[in-house]
Amino acid sequence: MKKEMEKAFNKQVNAEMYSSYLYLSMESYFQSISLSGFAAWMRAQVQEELFHGMKMYDYIHERGGKARLESIAKPEEKWETPLVAFEHILAHEQHVTSLINNLIDVALDVRDHAAKAFLDWFITEQVEEEATVGQIVDRLRLIGKDSSGLFLLDTELAKRVFVMPVTK
Ligand code: MG
Repeated sequence: MKKEMEKAFNKQVNAEMYSSYLYLSMESYFQSISLSGFAAWMRAQVQEELFHGMKMYDYIHERGGKARLESIAKPEEKWETPLVAFEHILAHEQHVTSLINNLIDVALDVRDHAAKAFLDWFITEQVEEEATVGQIVDRLRLIGKDSSGLFLLDTELAKRVFVMPVTK
């Protein structure tokens, strides 16, 4: 793997680890306001982001590179409402999508078609991520200040469990 590609992958490992850290902070926020279903959903999200980071990390080594770990930024700790938290997730995932797109630009620049093929999985994953989170944002907007709607959604989100995707 070319140095430029390796550097870009390493940056993305950090971005995925930061995502995991941000969602862990959100899990703690939801625990603190006793929305345990939202917290459980967030725990699955934490594991998913860790999986993304590790998938990139392993790929760097698979291609003969070296993973280099940088500091992970401190995430925010508090959000005004569950809606504000989910709007934050949506904006963050849109940002991550742009980072993956940039990574593919680098892969194409250095003619690393293997890396491009590897990154296609992430592109599909981001479409799913944005759709899922976007739907929750919409529902939270509909719910507004109706606490019974919020508790219903909490019960539904509690059902999410992280399933390790079957990929190489
Ligand atoms: Mg991710």
